[in-house]
Amino acid sequence: MSDKLNPFAIAQAQLDKAAEILQLDPAMHAFLREPMREFHFTIPVRMDDGSTRVFKGFRVQYNDARGPAKGGIRFHWEETVDTVRALAAWMTWKTAVVDIPLGGGKGGVICDPRTLSPGELERLSRGYMRAIARFVGLTKDVPAPDVYTHPQIMAWMMDEYEVLTGKHEPGVITGKPLELGGSAGRGDATARGGIYVVREAAKTLGIDLEGKTAVIQGYGNAGSFAHRLAQDILGLKVIAVSDSKGGIVNTNGLDPDAVAAYKRETRSVVGFPDADTVTNEELLELETTVLFPAALENVITEANADRIKARIVAELANGPTTPAADDILYANGVYVLPDFLCNAGGVTVSYFEMVQNAYQYYWPEEMVHQRLDQKMTTAYHAVHHMAENKKVNNRVAAYLVAVDRVARAVRLRGWV
Ligand code: NAD
Repeated sequence: MSDKLNPFAIAQAQLDKAAEILQLDPAMHAFLREPMREFHFTIPVRMDDGSTRVFKGFRVQYNDARGPAKGGIRFHWEETVDTVRALAAWMTWKTAVVDIPLGGGKGGVICDPRTLSPGELERLSRGYMRAIARFVGLTKDVPAPDVYTHPQIMAWMMDEYEVLTGKHEPGVITGKPLELGGSAGRGDATARGGIYVVREAAKTLGIDLEGKTAVIQGYGNAGSFAHRLAQDILGLKVIAVSDSKGGIVNTNGLDPDAVAAYKRETRSVVGFPDADTVTNEELLELETTVLFPAALENVITEANADRIKARIVAELANGPTTPAADDILYANGVYVLPDFLCNAGGVTVSYFEMVQNAYQYYWPEEMVHQRLDQKMTTAYHAVHHMAENKKVNNRVAAYLVAVDRVARAVRLRGWV
């Protein structure tokens, strides 16, 4: 992978920019550029046909100065340790920008979960937890779902951990089913948090979103909830959505219930009646007020940034925009809501889940929404003020807010 598209090289380049503006001490800069700890391990899994396959797994604890490491586990065929490192770094900045007392971590397994049977997936999930059990826990490192991992996988992992340690500790992992200590409001939290940030950004920009258009790339947890909430909370008309198989467009708007039902039935949005097809590349370049990248990294690059027509790019995905593309979007007046601010709703409600697990006392959904709104709104305005004060784009501003908070914690601990 070239450095231009290597997510960890990108994460480091973004930090370097912030370090320069913050005039970070060179030792602090060097410390924050690398993960504090990482684990590489093998996971042997007995397959349904009796054979054994060995999968490669990672867990990176990037920084835990502000609290236990926190971050999802991704199951993906193109997973690399550098992707995990980058995502762990972004988690560190994300928990800091929304000011929750957690650090940053991330995990992954190189596998294609689409080809595994439910039994194989369960054995892989339990095997992953067996490999990291001694290094995680409510006060050490708390995993969560990410791409291709879901509440059932969290339940298997939690159960494996509790069997191994012989105690009840649901807060070892978040994104669990409600029956096993999940939080109300976790399901749509990432999308909802992004929607609150878009609402605040529109106020700053003086845009009335009612009846304006939105386009969404990716139709999983983040993307499908963004469809419904963009419509219900912001009054946006979602005109195009996509998944890994391609996209659909209808300028009169797409109904979230109908598209979700169609995807449940056929496993893709492609072929949805009353819509034209578009490629994932074309979808990004559609005329729209808000564009939500909600799939994978590096989809907006210097090759297509000039053709992005959205007024606001709300990054629900992690790392969808390369640094070179960032500069082009900024120069073109596209208002980017950077990933670790825009998609921080998921980790914020995960944190609420940990708090509720610790007390074994659960909050109603409205309370979760209200507290999430308060965290996201405060974080957006902190970033916006920084951007205004330092005359930088929102991504650099978000780094300035987050890196400064993490550096203070590291310094106060006397590590550097
Ligand atoms: P998911 O697995 O639920 O959904 C991913 C979606 O992206 C699927 O619809 C898939 O078909 C689609 N996709 C995959 N490859 C694609 C491609 N090449 N082009 C277009 N679409 C493609 O995952 P998710 O949880 O919704 O995560 C999506 C993004 O949001 C990731 O970058 C993830 O890191 C980020 N994120 C998720 C959460 C969360 O709480 N779920 C929190 C923060 C950030």
